[in-house]
Amino acid sequence: MKQIACPKCQSEALIKSGVVKGRQRFRCKDCSYSFTVLKEGKNIDPYYVIKALQLYIEGVTFREIERILGISHVSVMNWVKRYNIKAPENYEYRPTYKVLSHTEMVDFFSNRESLKSSGCMITELGDKFMLIKWERFRKNSP
Ligand SMILES: [Zn+2]
Repeated sequence: MKQIACPKCQSEALIKSGVVKGRQRFRCKDCSYSFTVLKEGKNIDPYYVIKALQLYIEGVTFREIERILGISHVSVMNWVKRYNIKAPENYEYRPTYKVLSHTEMVDFFSNRESLKSSGCMITELGDKFMLIKWERFRKNSP
């Protein structure tokens, strides 16, 4: 079994704290961050298959998808093959993502600057929300 690490500080000192919607919840001993990881069995909820493929098309790497969704990058690679998904090349936008609790999400949206010139997409993820934002690469940046 692969070692699970905290998405915030990469610590592997985790405490199990219940199951939320089929996802194992962990709390990090080092930074107290809570997050959920999909319990992988034979049947992965198609919701997460679609999320993974969406992220792939957006240009998020397999390793990042593993970190965000808690699904092994091997599974994601297999779905990309099985569904014959091809991500278009994109050099103009870069996706950035955050996993936020409801309160953090409200704070994020209360600041107008957070949404400036990009907008974002939100999907539910266990007991949190995943927010993907697109940032345009600056031309003539050093
Ligand atoms: Zn941590």
